[in-house]
Amino acid sequence: MADKTVETSPSKITRTEGEWRAQLTPEQYHVMREAGTERAFTGKYWKTKEAGTYHCVGCGSPLFTSEAKFDSGTGWPSFWAPIDPANVAEHVDNSYGMTRVEALCAHCGAHLGHIFEDGPAPSGLRYCMNSASLDLKPEDPKAK
Ligand SMILES: [Zn+2]
Repeated sequence: MADKTVETSPSKITRTEGEWRAQLTPEQYHVMREAGTERAFTGKYWKTKEAGTYHCVGCGSPLFTSEAKFDSGTGWPSFWAPIDPANVAEHVDNSYGMTRVEALCAHCGAHLGHIFEDGPAPSGLRYCMNSASLDLKPEDPKAK
């Protein structure tokens, strides 16, 4: 019988830190590779209402849709659910003396933001993201 290769983690992307630095702006690098947080109300997308899909800046994976985006008043783009839970990995983060759930891109490992349990219905979750990690691809009006 032929040996069957089992793919356990599809499209895991690994880059060296030098490759990441070449690909990302310094702010994107700080957020995505050093788990930094952009200053509230300074990012590209905190108040964006445009219809479309938010992709990972690191690898292009679709992460959130504008339909799950809500105005949280925090100054960061906030969503109540990812486009697919398989695309957003969760990791318990104990930095800064707090226990928070960190959200990472499941494909390239980029830091996206944090997940809090004070979001709106139906999930009750708030995915508090950094604009620097996201790339909005606007919906094609002709596709409607
Ligand atoms: Zn990614």
